[in-house]
Amino acid sequence: LEAELAAFKDPKLARGLVDSIQKLAPAGGATLMEVCGTHTMAIARNGIRNLMPEGTRLASGPGCPVCVTSNRDIDTVIALARTDNVTIATFGDMTRVPGSTSSLLKEQAAGRSVQIVYSPLDALRLAEQHPDREIVFVGVGFETTTPLVAMAIKRAAAAGLKNFSVFGAHKNMPGALEAIINDPQLKLDALILPGHVSTIIGAEPYKFLAEKYGIPGVITGFEPVDVLQGIAMIMRQLHEGRAEIEIAYARGVMPQGNPVAMAAIDEVFETCTALWRGLGEIPGSGYRIREEFAQFDAVRRFNPQVEPTQDPKGCRCGDVLRGIMAPSECPLFRRICTPENPVGPCMVSSEGSCAAYYRYY
Ligand code: SF4
Repeated sequence: LEAELAAFKDPKLARGLVDSIQKLAPAGGATLMEVCGTHTMAIARNGIRNLMPEGTRLASGPGCPVCVTSNRDIDTVIALARTDNVTIATFGDMTRVPGSTSSLLKEQAAGRSVQIVYSPLDALRLAEQHPDREIVFVGVGFETTTPLVAMAIKRAAAAGLKNFSVFGAHKNMPGALEAIINDPQLKLDALILPGHVSTIIGAEPYKFLAEKYGIPGVITGFEPVDVLQGIAMIMRQLHEGRAEIEIAYARGVMPQGNPVAMAAIDEVFETCTALWRGLGEIPGSGYRIREEFAQFDAVRRFNPQVEPTQDPKGCRCGDVLRGIMAPSECPLFRRICTPENPVGPCMVSSEGSCAAYYRYY
């Protein structure tokens, strides 16, 4: 397996793909958006932006789940952290994201109970170990994490666990992509589609991009050769005047996705309008907990009093997430906003565009 994976880092293969990209790229240039935060990091880490032909722009998109979580949602989590007897269980990145006036890290310093966990099942265990506390898991992410949260809720229901609930800010990608494509400030030619999310949802939900908008898309993985192969396949489509959704990540993605994971999502969640940082409200792009599982919905359970929301002053995360501005164009980038002192979530998250630019450019 190691040898197989090494092939996806092979410099010779990479060189050949870069040559194909150079040959096939449209003479007038093209803007490709990498949708997924892990792709943003892979592109930055491997210097792929610098290997693109003149006129080809790689714009980063809205695929970092922490980054697209709205300030209103961050403030709601902070309000939950301030609720009596509540312990917030969350991924590490979320603790550092600034809300309107605080962050989970600041709340922890002020004596609130905040625990870092690595999966929703860790949060479930926490609830079993501390029956006297209310454990609220912060659920952000796309279809890669949503099935696990669905499973945790089902397990809690089956075990009759009364002190476990979820703050759900889960989202799905296709609705956000449609909003991006219709953004008059951005002219996109093609999309590098996310590998992890597509493992769950497959290729079908992206078909409208090609069929309705004539935008080609390629689902690809995260090693340098994966990313370059995805870009080469896009360039071939543009060269041949085709618009299709193709899979360059066959070792991870089946066209039909993972029906078991999708069924788990569907059993516990229903789609709803979601508020995205930078993109605003998008109908059908979020998941909320179904009525049958309402007792596991932290907002319905605790009805937290959320302070008036204000976005971080001067932060341009919204424009960065829409792909209309590079992080280095933000006036605060590197001067005031750094990973040690982040002003917005795009500098906090390990998948954030601003963090990627800070580290690698
Ligand atoms: Fe926001 Fe900082 Fe990124 Fe600027 S550099 S957009 S302030 S996160």
